Amino acid sequence: MKCALVTGGSRGIGRAICQKMAGMGYYLLVNYKNNRAEAEKTLNLINGNGELLQFDVAHKTEIQQALGGWIEKNEDKPIEVLVNNAGIRDDSLMAWMDESQWDNVLKTNLDSFFYVTKLVLNGMIAQKYGRIINVVSLSGLKGLAGQTNYSAAKAGVIGATKALAQEVARQGITVNALAPGFIKTDMTEGLDEKELKALIPAKRFGLPEEVAAAAAFFASPEASYITGQVLSINGGLYT
Ligand code: NAP
Repeated sequence: MKCALVTGGSRGIGRAICQKMAGMGYYLLVNYKNNRAEAEKTLNLINGNGELLQFDVAHKTEIQQALGGWIEKNEDKPIEVLVNNAGIRDDSLMAWMDESQWDNVLKTNLDSFFYVTKLVLNGMIAQKYGRIINVVSLSGLKGLAGQTNYSAAKAGVIGATKALAQEVARQGITVNALAPGFIKTDMTEGLDEKELKALIPAKRFGLPEEVAAAAAFFASPEASYITGQVLSINGGLYT
């Protein structure tokens, strides 16, 4: 049985990626933090072909207990695809940003990459095959005012993507990143869509399914010679 783990699979982009991976024949590990009802909805949408794995990606001990425990108990189910998708933003100008905003955003978006990937990587090395896909952001490429915390975290993951790609290429593992612009999910709900759309050459927000399609490409065996790359999915928004 081949497995795919999607962090933050309960909603938005993560849910669309779960659906796409299920269509590729993967058994899904659907991670979420709080929203069990939405995570169950994801599981229904993939016809129950997977299971829920609740843990907070910002807490290394929770990751080690929940994910580490799952891996130990399921040696016959190697995780072939890891999508580090869970993320939050907590915007504020740097002058007004408090320490907790910095810490939470860095822990959830950047530290999570290290602790989750580290647990999954050994299995991929043993299998001599793996696909690691990190969901970053336009903000990590360009830097956006009001998002020093989020931009720093996403830029950090981009650097880690490029470095890890070089470390594990020989073992048949690729490591790539997806950098969405504005995608219609809960995360962008409070934004002024009308005003922002005017700045986007495609004149619309993207859909989670449009990010998931790119994830499916990186996850496919056909993409085996593509690694350390960042693919923008942003309707032509200048980066
Ligand atoms: P979303 O709709 O807000 O969904 C966030 C998902 O992440 C939920 O499944 C949530 O779980 C999970 N999550 C949040 N914190 C978590 C934690 N500490 N531990 C485990 N799971 C956690 O967000 P989205 O728009 O789909 O964003 C997905 C990824 O794309 C993020 O990394 C985000 O930074 C990135 N991104 C989004 C956009 C955009 O325009 N939407 C643009 C660029 C990049 P619960 O349901 O349990 O809360």
